[in-house]
Amino acid sequence: MLNFDLDDQQKMLRDMIRDFAEKEVEPIAAEIDETMEFPEKNIKKLAQLGILGMTVPPEYGGQGMDALSYIIVVEELSRVCGSTGLTVAAAISLGVTPILLNGTEAQKKKWLPGLASGEYMGSFGLTEPGAGSDSGGTRTTAVRDGDEWVINGTKQFITNAAHAGIITITAKTDPEAKRSHGISAIVVPTDAPGFKLGTKENKLGVRASETWELIFEDCRVPAENLLGELNTGFGTFMRTLEGGRISIGAMALGIAQGALDKTVPYALEREQFGRPIAKFQAISNMIADMATEIEAARHMVYHAARLQDAGRPFGKEAAMAKLFASEVAMRATNMGLQIHGGYGYTQEYPLERYFRDAKLTTIGEGTSEVQRIVIARRVLEAYGGAAR
Ligand SMILES: Cc1cc2nc3c(=O)[nH]c(=O)nc-3n(C[C@H](O)[C@H](O)[C@H](O)COP(=O)(O)OP(=O)(O)OC[C@H]3O[C@@H](n4cnc5c(N)ncnc54)[C@H](O)[C@@H]3O)c2cc1C
Repeated sequence: MLNFDLDDQQKMLRDMIRDFAEKEVEPIAAEIDETMEFPEKNIKKLAQLGILGMTVPPEYGGQGMDALSYIIVVEELSRVCGSTGLTVAAAISLGVTPILLNGTEAQKKKWLPGLASGEYMGSFGLTEPGAGSDSGGTRTTAVRDGDEWVINGTKQFITNAAHAGIITITAKTDPEAKRSHGISAIVVPTDAPGFKLGTKENKLGVRASETWELIFEDCRVPAENLLGELNTGFGTFMRTLEGGRISIGAMALGIAQGALDKTVPYALEREQFGRPIAKFQAISNMIADMATEIEAARHMVYHAARLQDAGRPFGKEAAMAKLFASEVAMRATNMGLQIHGGYGYTQEYPLERYFRDAKLTTIGEGTSEVQRIVIARRVLEAYGGAAR
């Protein structure tokens, strides 16, 4: 029988995170957005609740929960603070998944317990100054020297890097191989000699989520830090991003829901022309559109997560969910801000923050244009058309 409800454990988790988000995260969200202060205390509390290790199997110190539970956590945190939602999403999905997917038993035992407990975070170093959407164009190199890799290059826009104990990066290990071939995934401990943080970005939105440049200058890491087979690391990164796209969809969904939650009470209370503005059809139509699109986005995001949980292919659905939910977040925050009028444009209300935070979801983990490429490729293939 089809069950459209969350199960009891998922409902309990949602209620617990919603309570935490409203009591601990929301009160400081505007301030940390302004100051760009990393939400260290709340991340520690979430780690104590087992959230950072929620997708890690119990044998490595985690909770072994399903993808949908994780998605609900990202949605609920993002409903009040996009920065906290992104910080947690990047730590769980991008930080943990490459090791879960491709780590050897020894590598899992070495790194997963620390990631699961929140002793340190993991980061995901794919993007480079010259390799963004074209992430297979990586120029960072790793050359084998005895029992070490010597890494040189620069990574751009890496979330949580200053709080990471390890960063999984892509590096070209076969310089002769064309395009995304000849790339390996390598785990770099952040105390490795030759590694340093570069500039921290000052951003439009998600300002309390940290985004760093990484610099590798003859950075040496043990040969055993190669993750998966030599020259096949790009595949590990692309598989990680499939799940990551559902998380950004969940973040977008949370931001859109948060915008609706703030907008409806405002529209019911704010009076012009002697009546609440919610009574004007122009306003109630926008509320209807926001609610309808959010409902559709939630179905798509949850569906992609359920496919992942069922062990079914979910790449196309993840890309569709991310594309749709992120564009819903843009429209919903825009309408919510419009309904708040001039007050929405000020920092007195959170709509302007939601509006700025939503924009990231159309860019991070593959832009909307890239999602359309991924989706179109799958659709054309299904009709016997040539894949690009
Ligand atoms: C806040 C933040 C956090 C991030 N965190 C991480 C992280 O933790 N790890 C990480 O590795 N990366 C991270 N990124 C990087 C992010 O994934 C990239 O910014 C994104 O993939 C786009 O790459 P780019 O910025 O180089 O843009 P570009 O690739 O230069 O794109 C510029 C424009 O061209 C379009 N475009 C490019 N190619 C095509 C094409 N073939 N067809 C049509 N249009 C195209 C794009 O859609 C975009 O509109 C983060 C980015 C941000 C802003």
